[in-house]
Amino acid sequence: MLAKMYKEYAVQRTFKRIGIMGGSFNPIHIGHLVTAEEAFSQFDLDIIIFIPSGQPPHKEPRKFAPAEDRYLMTVIATASNPHFIVSRIEIDRKGPSYTVDTLKELRKIYSSETEIYFITGADAILEILTWKTPEILAEHCEFIAATRPGYSLEKFKELHLLNENAKKLPKVHFMEVPALAISSTDIRKRLRNGQPIKYLVPEGVEHYLYKSQLYTTENYGS
Ligand code: ATP
Ligand code: MG
Repeated sequence: MLAKMYKEYAVQRTFKRIGIMGGSFNPIHIGHLVTAEEAFSQFDLDIIIFIPSGQPPHKEPRKFAPAEDRYLMTVIATASNPHFIVSRIEIDRKGPSYTVDTLKELRKIYSSETEIYFITGADAILEILTWKTPEILAEHCEFIAATRPGYSLEKFKELHLLNENAKKLPKVHFMEVPALAISSTDIRKRLRNGQPIKYLVPEGVEHYLYKSQLYTTENYGS
């Protein structure tokens, strides 16, 4: 019911510039939230839609926590921010999540008058060039590549320049965000080792993680 409400809220409003924050959110942490908020501000966006992935094609055979848990944690983490919403578009779709399918679906909701910005970290942007049909992505959206500790955007810039003339690649904007050396991998490890996760994830997510014992009972994703 709540999910439906969010969906309708997103559909009803006529947004001109939307940001998409895709990820496995396994679990969501403040690195994701700070990056999304920075894109919202720097690119003058109307809304950020968080889209937890179903079954990410690039990450198999890694096992993820159930989509419903990752979705709920994303809702909890974003609930207090009026310009953050969460979509079930990928978790409700059967089969692997391909960004291009998600963008096509979003384009059915938002006309070509709406600019779509797909936000990624410095690690994930590298994958764009390896996606099957980057030229189709280019038809639907532009990318925002955020700095992330431990990853260099320079390699991407070089590859991007090399490929620019060969294919019609999506436009990529670069964005500096306050450096947060936080990853879901590290949070899962901390939970397994009984180390603190306080202040690395929103308080509600911290409680959800302790209550559900999600990553301590099962080894979801190394
Ligand atoms: P994992 O360690 O399981 O891969 P993750 O922390 O990388 O998790 P993802 O869900 O894979 O989180 O990332 C979703 C998006 O958020 C990606 O585009 C990723 O680059 C970006 N991102 C994640 N953490 C940060 C961070 N600390 N700073 C900037 N961008 C980030
Ligand atoms: Mg990742």
